[in-house]
Amino acid sequence: MPLNTLPALISGRSLRTQIAWVFGALVVTLAVLLSLGFGEALKRRIQGDANASLQMVTDNTAAFLAHGLFERIREVQVLADADVIWRHGLDTAEVNNVLARYQAMQPHSLWFGVADAQGVVRAATGNMLVGQNVEERPWFRAGLQAPYVGDVHPAKLLESLLPPTKSGDPYRFVDFAAPIRIGSTTVGVLGVHGYWEWVNEMIQTLTPAVAREQQLEVFIFDRSGQLIHAPGKQQAVLQRLGQTLPDPSFAKVPSDAHQPREIKVLRWQDGKTYLTAHAHLPARNAESDLGWHIVARIPVDIAFAQADEAVAKALLGGLAAAAVASLLAWLAARRLSEDLDALARAAKDLEAGKPGADIPAAHSSREVQRLSSALRDMIHKLLSANEAMETQVRQRTQQLEEANQELDRQARSDPLTGLLNRRGFDAQMNHDLALARRSGRPLSIITVDVDHFKRINDTHGHDVGDQVLQRLAATLATRLRQSDVVTRLGGEEFAVLLPDTDLEGARTIAQKLVDSQASLGYPVIGGLTISAGVSTLRGAEDTAQELLRRGDMALYQAKREGRNCVVVQA
Ligand code: GH3
Ligand code: MG
Ligand code: MG
Repeated sequence: MPLNTLPALISGRSLRTQIAWVFGALVVTLAVLLSLGFGEALKRRIQGDANASLQMVTDNTAAFLAHGLFERIREVQVLADADVIWRHGLDTAEVNNVLARYQAMQPHSLWFGVADAQGVVRAATGNMLVGQNVEERPWFRAGLQAPYVGDVHPAKLLESLLPPTKSGDPYRFVDFAAPIRIGSTTVGVLGVHGYWEWVNEMIQTLTPAVAREQQLEVFIFDRSGQLIHAPGKQQAVLQRLGQTLPDPSFAKVPSDAHQPREIKVLRWQDGKTYLTAHAHLPARNAESDLGWHIVARIPVDIAFAQADEAVAKALLGGLAAAAVASLLAWLAARRLSEDLDALARAAKDLEAGKPGADIPAAHSSREVQRLSSALRDMIHKLLSANEAMETQVRQRTQQLEEANQELDRQARSDPLTGLLNRRGFDAQMNHDLALARRSGRPLSIITVDVDHFKRINDTHGHDVGDQVLQRLAATLATRLRQSDVVTRLGGEEFAVLLPDTDLEGARTIAQKLVDSQASLGYPVIGGLTISAGVSTLRGAEDTAQELLRRGDMALYQAKREGRNCVVVQA
């Protein structure tokens, strides 16, 4: 997973999921990096081991093979040189005896034989080929001159005389021969056919068990690069595929035999790739220098399969560790996540104004603890500030209401007398009028005007006039019922609203007011009279203006009739 997709994958998820993802990704990355690095190191180590095995097996095989060839030719040479054996003839009982003994010591040498100078076999183990002419055989012709080692070849004359091989394959031999001399005369040739099988056995002995596990195989190519030995049944197959020396550079004889040779990764004719090592047969003498190449190989996939398996195991382990790490991180983040959840819920409850809601004390980590206590302090401060503000607002509202009421009262009252003013009268009139219309009960009005008030002002001054007005207002108010409303309409004019009072009742009240005023004594001015007009509501269609106008008409009428009297205008 590319790292840049991680944020997109986890954003918006819960905190614990995010932490689990991050931990998992970290451990997976770590596991992949470690196992790849580990795999690389292991591969190098395994290749090193494989190289060492290959090198060791090729070198040992080459050395043992060279030694074997040398030993064999030396034995043949020593035996051929022992003229005491041959002095009495090439087919004596002693000769046969010696040949039999030698063969007993060399089970892989299937045929020990002596041919005379003309090429006729005179004595041989198992009497095989005795009497036959081997003059044309390369071993005989070379052996007449000098000790000879012949390259591996199929059996010719002996094939029919020997029991079939265990594997069923045809016999193949390496020939050894040396001239038999008595004095300076060459009287014959001692020949030995070494069974090629000994190479196979020797290679198996030299190949360690661990090399077999690695499928290490050893091949021998002759000087010309032709395959002369392959393990198992591969020889025929490889020969058919045209397998020769797998790398031409192997043919070059190194200048320094001890120089370390590199192991090559080569493609063989079977189509597979192998780690391939090579060694020249280190000839011990000129006769046994057959120029063979010892080549050993290990399949590359087998060599690295172990490393790949180890990497896969490490990766699996890493993934398991990532899963465990994620789970642990998820579990560890649970408390933190729960605390944050609780804080969020509490904040929502507080926002909704739920009673008793408060920020809970969180303990999952020091930071969350600090956060929750800071939030709690803040909320408490905000709540108490809010409460103080609400109390203050309540108080201010009440004060404002009181001030408004006072203003209203002031707006509706007359400052000089404390009675309702014209505006207050209008409001009261509308109220009483509505009540009277609804109930059908009567409503009457008395309009009052001071007689000759101008004179008082003129005579005694404006202040005395004011005092007179105040006294008159107080007198009017005390003489009326609680429900009757006295108003100063303006100047020295007053009006009295009389709910539940008919015309006659109103007239009586007006008369009482006029009469009592006339009999009342006033300081400075002595006495004072008033005139009054009375009117009453005529029906549902009657209006306040009409009522007042009729009252005014009645009042003027009273003035005209001489003042200090009451006139009724129904
Ligand atoms: P009438 O009998 O016809 O009513 O005669 P009057 O003198 O009472 O009537 P008029 O309308 O001629 O005079 C009213 C006077 O009342 C005139 C004014 O100076 C005086 N006045 C009006 N308001 C006040 C007030 O608030 N204080 C005082 N001292 N005088 C006032
Ligand atoms: Mg007047
Ligand atoms: Mg007047």
